[in-house]
Amino acid sequence: MYVNLGSRNITIDDTNFGSWCNVEGSGDEVPSDGGAWKEFYKKRNNGNWPRNCCVYGCREKATVGAHVRRLDGIQWSEEYIAPMCYRDNHHENDDPMILKPGTVLVPTK
Ligand SMILES: [Zn+2]
Repeated sequence: MYVNLGSRNITIDDTNFGSWCNVEGSGDEVPSDGGAWKEFYKKRNNGNWPRNCCVYGCREKATVGAHVRRLDGIQWSEEYIAPMCYRDNHHENDDPMILKPGTVLVPTK
């Protein structure tokens, strides 16, 4: 059961920076427009792609559009694309991750 947060871009701030995690996903899933998830993200974010990974404390370059969800109470939100480095885009566990304030997340749908 998922929480629909409105299918709009979300900007991480001090109310929602915690409790996100990678979701498996969607490595082989293709965006509806056929491009890579990074390109998908840029199209939905005015062409912008941040320089650095969105995980708090990470200084690596953002290289991949990772799938994330937010745990909201007992429910997961819909999926979002988050700019991450390869190292942090690990979906073999679902440990909560803290995202940097100011990060923009783009819904996959
Ligand atoms: Zn990182």
